[in-house]
Amino acid sequence: MKKILMLAVFALSATLAGAQAKYIFLFIGDGMGFGAVTLTEDYLSSQSAATTGSGTLAFSTFPVAGFSTTYSTSSWVTCSSASGTAFACGSKTRNGRLGMNEDATQSFTSIACRLKEKGYKVGITTSVSIDHATPAAFYAHQPSRNMYYEIAQDLAKSGFDFFSGAGLLNPLGKDKKQENVLDLIEKSGYTVVRSLSACKASAAPKLLLLQPESKPQSAFPYVIDKTADDYTLASTTALAVEKLHGDKGFFLLVEGGKIDWASHDNDAGSMVREVVDMSDAVNVALDFYRKYPKQTLIVVTADHETGGLGVGSGEGGSIGAIRGLANQKASVDKLIRRMEEGAVSYSALKAWLAENMGVALTFDDEATLRDLFAQNAKSKPASDDTPCTLQNAGSMAKAIMRIVSAKSGGSYSTFGHTGTMVPVYAIGEGSELFGGKIDNTDIPKKIAKAAKVEWK
Ligand SMILES: [Zn+2]
Repeated sequence: MKKILMLAVFALSATLAGAQAKYIFLFIGDGMGFGAVTLTEDYLSSQSAATTGSGTLAFSTFPVAGFSTTYSTSSWVTCSSASGTAFACGSKTRNGRLGMNEDATQSFTSIACRLKEKGYKVGITTSVSIDHATPAAFYAHQPSRNMYYEIAQDLAKSGFDFFSGAGLLNPLGKDKKQENVLDLIEKSGYTVVRSLSACKASAAPKLLLLQPESKPQSAFPYVIDKTADDYTLASTTALAVEKLHGDKGFFLLVEGGKIDWASHDNDAGSMVREVVDMSDAVNVALDFYRKYPKQTLIVVTADHETGGLGVGSGEGGSIGAIRGLANQKASVDKLIRRMEEGAVSYSALKAWLAENMGVALTFDDEATLRDLFAQNAKSKPASDDTPCTLQNAGSMAKAIMRIVSAKSGGSYSTFGHTGTMVPVYAIGEGSELFGGKIDNTDIPKKIAKAAKVEWK
């Protein structure tokens, strides 16, 4: 009996010692606080149910859940580069720094680099530009997150296997006189492709998948504005998995970058669709997990909250209000374009909002809209039908979107980030490490532990 027991204990400890996260997914919903997750689930639920309830995102029912701090060394309210540095490199830094310490005298080593050293393949996938703070925190070391040319130079040196995103923000440098950094990246051994089919067909060992040059290089279009040929986060994540999967294991970062952008503009209708887009990408990872459950770890979290989003206020929390999010047909970007494409009258703007935002404005809303119009019109309109050139379209659009969103359950309190904690969800090998309250600097250390890689 004793012998059998000893054998059982031996077998169990051998299993534990051998268990190792070989395929690791880290999803970052940029700006995805509890409000963003809750409102998206309420929106999903409201589409199919007659009463209140909670819909389900791919990650929200993961068996392990917790929450993470987000503060940086310089502020309770972090920026994406300081939080990116924390969960990529395991050390806090001040806002604006990227992969470096507070006084920019020391470069940190990210979990992606540590795993690369151990033989893992590494992929970085985002819905914004690849040199943006969150993805860059895994491969770049710069005093400022705005040094896009230098960040892209770091990308060329990274040795990572797969990158995908919209493009690069500053390929010719600030003075536009530097060597095109894409040439530099190609000289370092990368093949640049600009379509999903070219990426799928390529056998190149190191790939950079960008949007076509005819599209903006700063970000994928908002999901709400997408056309059939636009990339989704799920489509690029699926390609990343295809390219990275092999004997050696992989680490894949996936960023839903425009959850944050929509939230900065207080555009709840666009925001919920961005969260669903990331959830679709998580489903790609879950399909993979189902094939390799004992070797796969999926972690989903956020870098910070954006917008100070509350779910509903008064009637804004009714099922009818939240169901109204589905009626929105265009993002804040299209509103800005409508205001900038030429002179527009108050009546025409109001009609555009009724057609595209799907909400009925009250008498008070109209008064606010009329004030905004008068403040931003270059010349005083003779009547509601007088076309006017509008200035400050960006800030005017934000103010309009705050009104629109509040009517559909999205009550924003700021156009910036907030310092609240963010959710953490995990499934798979090592997922039990991610429960409870954790610090954002713990995330890469816990990933290393799950991968049985020593963190020194
Ligand atoms: Zn932001």
